[in-house]
Amino acid sequence: MYRRLPSVDELLRRASLTELARRKGHVAVANAARAVLDNLRAEITSGKLTEDDVEFAVGDIEIAIEQQLDRALSYSLRPVINATGVILHTNLGRAPLPQSTLDHAREISCAYSNLEFDLKQGGRGKRDMHVDRLFRTVLGEDVATIVVNNNAAAVMLALNSLAEGGEVVVSRGELVEIGGSFRIPDVMQKSQAILREVGTTNRTRIADYERAINDRTRLLLRVHRSNFEIVGFTEQPLLEELVALGRRWNIPVLEDLGSGALFDLRSAGVQGEATVADSLQAGADVVTYSGDKLLGGPQAGILSGQKDLIAKIRSNPMFRALRVDKLVYAALEATLMAYVKQDYDSIPALRMMRIPFDEIEARVKAVAASLRARSTGTTVELIDGNSVIGGGSAPSAVLPTKLIAVEHSLLSADRILAALRKNDPPIVARVEEGKVLLDLRTVLPGQEDTVVRAFEQL
Ligand SMILES: *Cc1c(COP(=O)(O)O)cnc(C)c1O
Repeated sequence: MYRRLPSVDELLRRASLTELARRKGHVAVANAARAVLDNLRAEITSGKLTEDDVEFAVGDIEIAIEQQLDRALSYSLRPVINATGVILHTNLGRAPLPQSTLDHAREISCAYSNLEFDLKQGGRGKRDMHVDRLFRTVLGEDVATIVVNNNAAAVMLALNSLAEGGEVVVSRGELVEIGGSFRIPDVMQKSQAILREVGTTNRTRIADYERAINDRTRLLLRVHRSNFEIVGFTEQPLLEELVALGRRWNIPVLEDLGSGALFDLRSAGVQGEATVADSLQAGADVVTYSGDKLLGGPQAGILSGQKDLIAKIRSNPMFRALRVDKLVYAALEATLMAYVKQDYDSIPALRMMRIPFDEIEARVKAVAASLRARSTGTTVELIDGNSVIGGGSAPSAVLPTKLIAVEHSLLSADRILAALRKNDPPIVARVEEGKVLLDLRTVLPGQEDTVVRAFEQL
């Protein structure tokens, strides 16, 4: 059976593959041919194939090579339609970017730019200044801002710069884990600061912080709980009280906000999420937050606060190791510009939080009508439900929505989910009580028809 397999050289001399090699590259086609042959050899070895199977496979080998080549030459990173209703879905890339970010990033990245060149002086400049200027417009002239790779990096850098070798006081109710590998005690250890935990899981008083202060104390740390809440018999000092204590002992207060909204979400019906400006106004000396959570921009870790402390953090050699490139600066600059212009609807994550209920309901009704008309075997209902913000922001905040619930006469909900994932582009939805639920809040305008077509093809 092995002898019936052609050699790679022989295959590459065939007209169809010579033509393929001319279009897609000789090496890529040779690799695809080798992969298909290796696969056949392995199947023969495992005893799975009969003589006839091998003959059949050899007859179709050119098609198999072309398919293998298509797989090898297609991107692994693909766009996905998010029908889960989770706006900042970490597995699906968190915030979808405003269009302007890509226009700006393309213009800046496909050519040279003044990333670190001072056009006035004709000498070396700093990459920070491009966004620091806009952060000052949004947060106030006395606030300095620098940017690193993500918020985990921002926290690590702030702790190491401001507290290396010293103690950091933090409440036991704030020793959080975010998304698996970010755990406050571990980050603290790696940043070479010493964790001084105070209070209890549910209750920490300002007196607990005060008792822990000694001559090794370098920072008071407040961490946003992000993905959980403690309810019931609880107590946590106000940020203002922590700030007053810090001022009394001349110890800075660092707040890890996580999400860091620049826009007050109360107008979208989301309570209990302090904005970056709220924290700075309450007196936090440095705050850290993500670029791709409530801010709605590219992945980044942002540190905003008092000029002298931010300058100290910036002078840490670790900053150089955690800095971001021109793509991120361009995307962040364009995102911030939308805030400066108060053009909030151009930021998709904010837009999704602010879509009026009536608008969602109208879209849902239209899609449900198409599904009923075009997909056979399905039962389509509209039910009330909630979208969530996700990304560790406002864990208990829910945005009322209308959901499309779909059942199929022959296919289980899990089979439908699997089929939707195989669609091009893949569609991610969720299942509840045996029904597939579609939340159009996170389905971008223009994607509805793709969703309907996927159901049509079930
Ligand atoms: C999300 C989050 C982080 C980690 O931020 P990344 O941008 O994912 O690195 C850290 N701290 C808090 C409180 C968070 O919510």
